[in-house]
This record gives sequence, structure tokens and C-alpha cells, in this order.
Amino acid sequence: MKLISDLNQRSLVDRSLAAVWHPCTQMKQHESFPLIAISKGKGAWLYDEKGNPLLDCISSWWTNLFGHANPQINQAITNQLEKIEHVMLAGFTHAPVVELSEKLSALTNGNLGHVFYASDGASAVEIALKMSHHYWQLQAKPQKKKFVCLENGYHGETLGALAVTDVAIFRKAYGSLLQEVFTAPSPDSRKAKSGESADDVARYAAQELEELFKKGHQHIAAIIIEPLVQCAGQMAMYSPEYLRLVRALCDRYEIHLIADEIAVGCGRSGTFFACEQAQIWPDFLTLSKGISGGYLPLSLCLTTKSIYQTFYSDQTQQGFLHSHSYTGNPLACTAALTCLEIFESENVLQKNILRAQDLANAFAWAKSDSRIEYWRQQGMILAFDIKQDCIKNLATFPREMFSQCINEGLLIRPIGNTVYVMPPYILSTEETSQMGKAVARALDKTLS
Ligand SMILES: *Cc1c(COP(=O)(O)O)cnc(C)c1O
Repeated sequence: MKLISDLNQRSLVDRSLAAVWHPCTQMKQHESFPLIAISKGKGAWLYDEKGNPLLDCISSWWTNLFGHANPQINQAITNQLEKIEHVMLAGFTHAPVVELSEKLSALTNGNLGHVFYASDGASAVEIALKMSHHYWQLQAKPQKKKFVCLENGYHGETLGALAVTDVAIFRKAYGSLLQEVFTAPSPDSRKAKSGESADDVARYAAQELEELFKKGHQHIAAIIIEPLVQCAGQMAMYSPEYLRLVRALCDRYEIHLIADEIAVGCGRSGTFFACEQAQIWPDFLTLSKGISGGYLPLSLCLTTKSIYQTFYSDQTQQGFLHSHSYTGNPLACTAALTCLEIFESENVLQKNILRAQDLANAFAWAKSDSRIEYWRQQGMILAFDIKQDCIKNLATFPREMFSQCINEGLLIRPIGNTVYVMPPYILSTEETSQMGKAVARALDKTLS
């Protein structure tokens, strides 16, 4: 017991650095860069051990929609906890998973009426890739097994998902473990030359994709994309025209379209699903992050009746035999169902139009700032790039800006030279405006 009491005298941060291997982190950098112990959250605010508040401007890695310790979600989970915390989903079912699946299907107007569950985003991507692969075998076209992904795309970090991810820093050490894929140009609207529109960039990118499909379609199972915003790829935004063109190409060349809406789904882009802005439906749609309101690990892959029917057979091995222990966890499904109820009862998508306008107003200063380029917004995501010649050391800029933001009471994590905010859907106009001003002050200090 002596050991435990000794341990308790050290700070939580020191104990964390000794025992916890933190994600997406070079641990040695914590020698000079603060690790922050959070003891509670309320609404859009996080509180450290001393009670200092931090505004969660990035929704705790894009997961939180309706605030921390949301009373309605807390209550719903507590109620469910009294009934059943977990039961395996193979051979069993329960009300939360059924109701959630029905609601999601209804949100796609029945176009994607079958829902397969997992626990994290990367696993939902693996499911979409495996289903597509298996589908083509069942269609007696086993040679259709290659995947196409986009330059600068991100789909998670397990081996299958990482293979279709094009972010060098995540792939570099693992290249030899990854299957080969085709990579098509990103429709990133920042590529527009003078006189060109975002639609023009979308058309050029789709033309190159068509060349790839024309040559390789007999070997291609699916293309995977992040609709409208390549979030981990520095919030690269693009025209919905690209989605329409890709849908048409997929139909023409018999290739599945996988829409990875793990980051842009659940109202983030302005509509519930980002694909709605192009009036298209994919063959597979993945959700995670926001779906449980940032409460519990939950991910899912929606698909069509025709794909589902292809697996429906007297043969066991013709089924989709993928599983995770916590598939369809009742508590996580309850959190998700409650979020969908909040979307309806509080008219969230409608109100987010005004919140997005608040965001634009709060960051209007950045549009005319000579250190800044490519100011852009898609619904509840707002981003801009700091011109590289204004940054002394690009390798340390994200950490320095993070630290200055912490001093201002904000949680912000720049990606490279891109500063972005992606707040929960609950900020007041006043809080949003304060956030914009505090980011401006933090940027001044970081660049000075
Ligand atoms: C975060 C993310 C993933 C991976 O989700 P995890 O839960 O981190 O595995 C996949 N795709 C996109 C678009 C994401 O933003």
C-alpha cells in the first residue's frame, strides 16, 4: 500500500506520462509541451484540476455535439444502464440497436436501410472495404478487388483503413504492411488557379478519376472518399459537384462508392449527411465520432438493400462473418438515439445555420488578415491557413499555437499550418465571438 500512497503524491500528469502511452503523440515532446489533466466537463467547457476552464473548440477530436455532461444524454444512458449494459449482438437484439437502425435508415429515406455496427471509425471503414470486396466475390467478379482513394484522404489507422489513407506522417513507417491502392487527385478547391472555380477543380479531378476507372474498372471494387471536407487532411474543402460526378462514374463503371462520413456526418457539414448536399447516396456510408454525441465508442456502416440481399443465403460462408465483441453496445446506441432525438426536438440543423453564421462573423477578421490565406467554411467547420513564410518553424507551429490557445482558455489543435475550429452545436453567439477574438490573440503571440 506504501507504493499507492507514494504514487498519489505525484501529480496526475506525471503519473500519466509514466504509465499512459498517449495517442498520436511523440511522448518526448511532453518534456516541453503541457499534458493537461481534465477533471470535469460541462457544456462546451472542460475544466482542469485547478478548475481553469477551457472552451472545447474542436469538440474533443470532433466527437462532441451537444456538450459535455449533457443532462438529457446522461439521463438516457443512466436509464439504459438499469436495464441492460451489454449483450452480444450475434443471436440477440435489443431495443436501442433496433430503434437506432430504424432511425438511421429513415434519415436516408430508406436508401441505406441496413446497418452494421462496430466501435471505432477505422473499424467501420474496414467493414465497408470488406463488404465491398466480398460482394464482388459473391457476384463472381473476384478480380474486382482494388480500392481507389483520394490524395490527402484520411480513413483511420488500422491496416486496411491506413492503406486507403494518404497522409504521409501516419503511413510512413508502415508502408510495407499496406495493400496497394490507386490514388486519385483530391478535388481540394485550394487548387483553383486564378479564374477557376471550385466546380472547375472538381471537374478536373473527376476527369482524372474517369481515366483511372476506364483503365482499371475490371479490377476496382470501390472508391472511398470523405464527402465535402478532407478533415484530417488539413480541412481541405471541395464542391459537391465532385460527389455528383463520382456517383455517376461509379454507376457507369460498376464501382462501389464508400462515403466516409465519420467526421462530416451528423450535421457537421450543414446537412445531416454531407452527401445530401449533392443529392446522392453512396453504396456504403460510415459514421462514428459525432454519432454517440462524443459519449461512447460507436461506429457503423450503412448499406443498401441490394448489397445486403447479396449476402442473404443458405450458405454460412456467404454471410458477412465480421464481428467485434462490443458490436451494437446498448449504452452507446442509447447515447446515439438520444442525439438523434435532440436533432429532431431542438431543430438542430435549422439552428446550425445561424450558428455557422456566428462562426463566420467571429472569424471575419481572418479574411482580411495578410498572414492568412484560404479562409474556408463548411457548416460547423471553419478553417484557414497561415502563410508558410509567416511561420518561423512549421514543425513546432501547431504545438506553439496549441499552447497559446490554452493560455487563452481554448482547446485548439492546428494541423500543420491550418488553424480550424469545429465546436459543439451549443455555443452562444457571445461564446463564439469570444472564441474568434481569443484565436486572433493566440495567433499574434504565436507568430510574434
Ligand atoms: C477519425 C476518422 C476516422 C477514424 O476514426 P477512429 O475512431 O479514430 O478510428 C476515419 N475516417 C475519418 C474521415 C475520420 O475523420
